[in-house]
Amino acid sequence: MPFSLGVSAQDDDIDGAIAEVLGSLDAQSFSFRINAQGTRWEPLQALRPEGPPLRPSDFDIVAVHDPALDRMRLSWQRSIIEPLTDNVVYDEIVVGNEGYITGADVALHPQPARAMKSDRLAAVRRQQYLLNPQLLVGDALRRQHDTGQQVIRYVGRQELDGAPHRVIEIIALPRPIRLYVALDSNRVSRLVTQENDFPCGDVEIVVAFSDWRRHSGLAFPYQVELSWEGEVIHRETRQRVELNPQLDPDTFVLPETHPFDPAVAKRGLINEQWIHRATAMGAPISLDAGELVLVRISPDVVSIGGGIHHSLAIALDSGVVVVDPPQNEDRSRAVIEAVTSRWPDKPITHLILSHHHHDHSGGIRAYAAIGAELIVAEGDRNFVTQCLARPHTINPDTLVAAGTRPTIRTVGDNSLSLGGGAIEIHRISSPHSAENLLVYVASVKLLFNADLFNPGLVPPGVVPPPHWLTYSRDFRRKVEALNLDIELLVGAHGALEGRPYQSLISFTA
Ligand SMILES: [Zn+2]
Repeated sequence: MPFSLGVSAQDDDIDGAIAEVLGSLDAQSFSFRINAQGTRWEPLQALRPEGPPLRPSDFDIVAVHDPALDRMRLSWQRSIIEPLTDNVVYDEIVVGNEGYITGADVALHPQPARAMKSDRLAAVRRQQYLLNPQLLVGDALRRQHDTGQQVIRYVGRQELDGAPHRVIEIIALPRPIRLYVALDSNRVSRLVTQENDFPCGDVEIVVAFSDWRRHSGLAFPYQVELSWEGEVIHRETRQRVELNPQLDPDTFVLPETHPFDPAVAKRGLINEQWIHRATAMGAPISLDAGELVLVRISPDVVSIGGGIHHSLAIALDSGVVVVDPPQNEDRSRAVIEAVTSRWPDKPITHLILSHHHHDHSGGIRAYAAIGAELIVAEGDRNFVTQCLARPHTINPDTLVAAGTRPTIRTVGDNSLSLGGGAIEIHRISSPHSAENLLVYVASVKLLFNADLFNPGLVPPGVVPPPHWLTYSRDFRRKVEALNLDIELLVGAHGALEGRPYQSLISFTA
């Protein structure tokens, strides 16, 4: 046998059965090509936090793997459905620690063909390992062989959906990966591990495998479903598997590469699905703090951008109110620092969350950590409460360190005002998100919104994504009903300096 399970498996039957299943998944000396079709879902872009999840895209993929030389090429054709609508065609090529993306892979702020950064590379490789146990097991056996360390071990029996399974654990980052092997078929039914999500912290990743078929001794699952916290987010059906296919000599050629950065790769590895979930939406969501650009709207009102997502800071006599904590903890820390250096004598007293979607709520815990009161729509209260309470052990953040008890205030049918009417917060329901807070700043007659109308983002004459028009037309009706005196519209996306109210009328005409 090319592997040893060590002392934990003392029963010869178990050793034999596990040797057989590992052998059927040991792809170290084969290359293979898989043609598949699939769908992505996104639980944290739903109409409400409790779902059902949004279906952002469908895809066709041709995946070519050459594990002996640590090479893969994934050719994607993705049909992006909602909220963006587009078709993107691109390949991801990974060779060892270098990679390349052959074309624009997202719809919003598309980047052309480029060398792949280390975080994306780590996330691309990890997702393929999770979806293809042959890659995972082949790599674990190779690591075990090369290091002499025990990388794979038998950890015992467990029932799964009423059927007995043997559980094999593979040492991996950020957490071990467990394979559940059905006793009756000796096939892997399920893989279980964990990774990080910015608002939700430690999240469980489960991959269910079925319809196993043999190709010259190697076993391949034809149905694969990846779940995130119990929700299926990636389903693919394989149409065709070819072993040792004829490959074009250019298959693994990288026209350009980036130097490998282990710290960036680690960030991509532990936040793997964060990257794939953004790609599935056709909209990149940064993993780092990104650049910070401050645009002064008045001495007391500053728009904070630099990346795709913006915040707004409003200084009142008693302190500063920040609207929206997008992306992640690091982004929030950078925004907090910028606000504090602009108004050093004023504490940040409040954080207003526009809506629960993960690209807007990802950095909320950093504001809880500094003791700001969190203002959220009534229907988002449970979601935010859970985000604050959930374990964040894979990527411990400042709230873990601070140990503060955050306070949450909700906005219901009655609007909420701060600073004696200087700020009015209105809750509306939108086809984009059933709970959405709009923030009106009286001194500058400004209305801030997230995702309902992006002022200045779509140039005049360019056809906007159809769902954006739906959101903006609905937004206009809701805003008209509020009867506010608005001069300037600022969005969580779009022009940092905002656009006149007229831009909404022109966009929705
Ligand atoms: Zn949204």
